Amino acid sequence: MCGLVGVVGTDDSAYEAFVGLMNLQHRGQDGAGILTVDTKRSQFSMQKGSGLIENVFSERSFRALRGPAAIGHTRYATIGRRDPNLLQPFLDSNAGIAIAHNGNIVNCYQVREELIEKHKHVHFGSESDSEVILQLICTYLGNEPPKDNDQLFSAIGYAMAELVGSYAVVGIQKNCSLFAFRDPNGIRPLYFGKRDETNFAFASETVALDYLGYTEIDEVKPGEAVIITIDGKVFRKHLLQKSISPCMFEWVYFARVESQMGNTAVYKARFDLGLILAEEIKRRGIEADVVLPIPETSRIAAGAMAEALDLPFRELLIKNRYVNRTFILDDQAARQEAIKRKLFPIAAEIQGKRCLVVDDSIVRGNTAKQIVKLIKQAGAKDVTLVSTCPPIANPCYYGIDFPSPDELVANERTEEQIAEELGADRVVYQSLDGLKKALGQKSLCTGCLTKTYPTDVSHGTQFEEMRNLDRSKQLSETM
Ligand code: SF4
Repeated sequence: MCGLVGVVGTDDSAYEAFVGLMNLQHRGQDGAGILTVDTKRSQFSMQKGSGLIENVFSERSFRALRGPAAIGHTRYATIGRRDPNLLQPFLDSNAGIAIAHNGNIVNCYQVREELIEKHKHVHFGSESDSEVILQLICTYLGNEPPKDNDQLFSAIGYAMAELVGSYAVVGIQKNCSLFAFRDPNGIRPLYFGKRDETNFAFASETVALDYLGYTEIDEVKPGEAVIITIDGKVFRKHLLQKSISPCMFEWVYFARVESQMGNTAVYKARFDLGLILAEEIKRRGIEADVVLPIPETSRIAAGAMAEALDLPFRELLIKNRYVNRTFILDDQAARQEAIKRKLFPIAAEIQGKRCLVVDDSIVRGNTAKQIVKLIKQAGAKDVTLVSTCPPIANPCYYGIDFPSPDELVANERTEEQIAEELGADRVVYQSLDGLKKALGQKSLCTGCLTKTYPTDVSHGTQFEEMRNLDRSKQLSETM
């Protein structure tokens, strides 16, 4: 999962890309990059670095990153977290094209091998699946800049036909045109907006476009490619149609609450998840004195639930805002240490109470277990752990770094067994129907819940093996 930005038609394109990325920092904290094209000097400039966006760029960066068009990327690593070669954007100087990618290509190793076999000149500078996308496009173009928009559309269509997985991509050409495209299932989000006749931007989430003052916001549709030229002409082409299956986890956890995803605002989806869970609490006859959110993501759902149950909503777990989201941290020891430092209970308010503790989702269960322990130690009489997401029991092949299934707390456990494992008196999960109703989409990717994926995932095991190897390597490096 990563964040993407593309800006065309303003002299401040690099700074705008930076501000856009700052609004997408939650989508990846492992590194960031911005690439610009300067029409006057007809050249690309790029800066990339590891860590948070504000640590990668300085005022000096924007003096070097010149030109009216820019693309930017903030990285969430599923593999090779410490490898600087995996930072994006990726540039092919011969074809005069650079791209940044959010998602995961399931058949990446297979396509990569085929490219190397068929095209002796193809060279990869990294193990990144995003480079595979770039090289598919560039080999189709004969490693030369596209002659016109039709040729670029054809190259993207060719890449789409070869790729299996999730991809939202923003790209830039040496002539300063931006382009963007999205996988035919629409698993990862991508939007674009307009500020005036020649000034447009792309972003992974609407919140970044809103912040920068772009309006007339529209989705890059699943299977669609969009090209925007430096003089503000917009060309759209639908290239491939498959079942539309956006990732349910965007609404549940990943996206900013201010964003609009598809036809449902993230805020509304989270509110409705809470209302639906309140009905379930009533149906089961669970009694409670107070509703507590586990900050931050579950706040909206917990508030809705409290309102519907006519119970007080109380912030009784106080977060140390300087500790990163534990889910993104990539090794077990780092996550456990972060949880310990992250939350503090208000014991005087918890003492003797029956608590409904609301979390957005339960993945490994490490956070939930630690929190249940904290609340019990603070004197709670009874703890019901409520998850706004149904049980996650299967891998994600599309860019969310869930651990292997045997590390997922819901894998092959009943609700009672999960409650016992987490130390809670009971757990209440959102139902699949409740999730679908709250998110309001015609169809969704729910692969990690149901094991039914919107694409072929037969090559996914190769990716999982590589990821496990990578994890062991990283672990041995830290020991
Ligand atoms: S498998 Fe789960 S996390 Fe991955 S894209 Fe599908 S819904 Fe999202």
